[in-house]
This record gives sequence, C-alpha cells and structure tokens, in this order.
Amino acid sequence: MKTIGVDDLHVDQCHRCGGLWINATSKEQLLADPKAVKTIDTNPSAMGKRQDNITEIKCPLDHSVMIRMCPPQKKQVHYESCTICGGMFFDAGELREMTKVSLGQRLRSLLG
Ligand SMILES: [Zn+2]
Repeated sequence: MKTIGVDDLHVDQCHRCGGLWINATSKEQLLADPKAVKTIDTNPSAMGKRQDNITEIKCPLDHSVMIRMCPPQKKQVHYESCTICGGMFFDAGELREMTKVSLGQRLRSLLG
C-alpha cells in the first residue's frame, strides 16, 4: 500500500491491484468530491474486476474480515466495508463509478 493525498485527504492504494483503502473519516469527504476521486482512482476498471473473485479481504487496520457491500443504485460496484473501524476498500475503478451518481444517492447508499 502507498499513501496518496489530495488536498487534506489521504487514501492508501494497493500497488498490486490498484484498489483503494479509505478510512472512515475520509470516506464521506472523498465521495463528495468527484474531482479528487478522478485524481486518486486512475487505474483501469478491468484491473479491479479481476479482484471481484476475491471474497475475503481483511481490513488493513484491524485485520477483521470485511463485508461486501452492493449499493442498490450501483449494482456493478462491490466494495468492502469494515464493521469494526468503518473503513472501505474499493477495487480499481469502483470509486469513480460511485461518484457518478448524485450526492444524495451516494449518501443514502453509504448510510443505507
Ligand atoms: Zn477496520
């Protein structure tokens, strides 16, 4: 993982799969900022699609197994969420996909 920063936001990116780890404090700010997302999530979606077969992803902070989330408005996106710390893991391209909807839809899908 390497840390990428845009303004005061920091996310961790896996150098192997291009996936993005977003901690609980950054996620809402980041999802409300499509410009920042475009800067951060630059890897091709095809790279992330391959990761969809991996079902057990562990949280980098507390090593608990993360649960797979399917936002109702974005059925092609499957991100992982940590029930302990509230962090999220997006495969490459999925964060871009998430920010293509309106802010209200995003918040509803997150808080769901
Ligand atoms: Zn966690």
